[in-house]
Amino acid sequence: MSTRQYNYLIVGAGFAGSVAAERLASKGNKILLVEKRNHIAGNAFDEYDEHGILVHKYGPHIFHTNSKKVFEYLSQFTEWRKYEHRVLANLDGELYPIPINRTTINKLYNKNFTTEDEVKEYYESVREKRSPILNSEDIIVNQVGVDLYEKFFKYYTKKQWELDPSELSSSVCGRIPIRTNTDDRYFTDQYQFMPKDGYTKMFEKILAHPNIKILLNTDYKEIINKIEFDKIIYTGPIDSFFDYEFGKLPYRSLHFEWENHKTEFYQKVTSVNFVNSEKYTRITEHKYFSNQKSNTTTITKEYPQMEGEPFYPIPNDENSVLVTKYKSNVSKLNNVKFIGRLAEYKYYNMDQVIGRILSLY
Ligand code: FAD
Ligand code: UDP
Repeated sequence: MSTRQYNYLIVGAGFAGSVAAERLASKGNKILLVEKRNHIAGNAFDEYDEHGILVHKYGPHIFHTNSKKVFEYLSQFTEWRKYEHRVLANLDGELYPIPINRTTINKLYNKNFTTEDEVKEYYESVREKRSPILNSEDIIVNQVGVDLYEKFFKYYTKKQWELDPSELSSSVCGRIPIRTNTDDRYFTDQYQFMPKDGYTKMFEKILAHPNIKILLNTDYKEIINKIEFDKIIYTGPIDSFFDYEFGKLPYRSLHFEWENHKTEFYQKVTSVNFVNSEKYTRITEHKYFSNQKSNTTTITKEYPQMEGEPFYPIPNDENSVLVTKYKSNVSKLNNVKFIGRLAEYKYYNMDQVIGRILSLY
């Protein structure tokens, strides 16, 4: 093993950086983990607010996966609380289950479908065949036609991305299934849980290895010339690493408006999506994540914006051209690994990022 001060400089203490740090430290490597924010856990960070409610500071984070490997890995660092996410869409002031399912269709169109076949037939009668599927409009219209697309996807997507669904990769709206049964859970993965004491506590345990030194409030660019290391694992935005050589890559951000209400519950489910009104996309009520008992409740309204912390890569053709240029730079470096949602410019869920790290290290 090298005699340098650190075997790895890891940039970013989100899932990618922290799981990589733990894996490598457990094999005897010395790690310096540098994070520019004042906390670990990246966008999964949670903490108790001034009203004593555990809140997800960067928007609702629901752990869901079909990977036994990922679930078992994290289970070393946390106990779990069973949690199945439910979302309602507010359309013209009425609430409908989302993803669209049989209940949504029955309520919206005053139908009385009782079987999956009836709903399948209904979709068949309204869908507009699109081939090839080139974008997020195609993928929805091809399944359920224009009316459902316009009601549940078009306006919400425009708010979220400042782009029409026809200007976004099909993978964006394609994240949302269309159902014929009455399953109203947002996800159907085998493992759906919340870390019992929250994400931040779980990260503290992941990072509690004597070989890991953590430096918060520090941009790696400030210290990179002052330390000795063999390799870098970089989980920040890819364009920033190369000082925007080919131009800035757009990342979508969010502004959160926080409100505490003096009532036990504010809404019926964790998140309500405003699909044809408001400037915010959704309201999330944080108490549902932890099942806390309290006389007040804390909610957030999410306002999408371009400026601010990078949260979402924006998957479309134009950006993929730019990403390819940056990735060709990456392939010229042999001691830096780019990994994670910002560094790979991929709309990953948490379990996908963890899965990537576990298969590499
Ligand atoms: P991040 O968590 O973004 O971590 C990267 C870290 O690098 C950040 O902490 C950043 O501050 C740091 N960094 C960047 N540049 C530098 C620098 N120059 N120097 C030092 N540090 C730097 N996934 C799910 O599975 N389920 C969900 O329900 C879910 N909901 C989400 C909701 C929202 C609003 C958002 C934004 C994301 C959601 N995700 C969800 C996705 C999840 O947040 C990501 O998959 C995961 O956080 C990716 O981890 P990461 O380590 O790649 O990135
Ligand atoms: N979407 C939509 N209407 C909804 C829910 C989702 O149009 O009610 C679209 C929208 O473009 C959104 C994408 O589907 O950005 C993915 O939704 P998801 O809930 O996975 O977004 P995230 O939780 O990552 O913000």
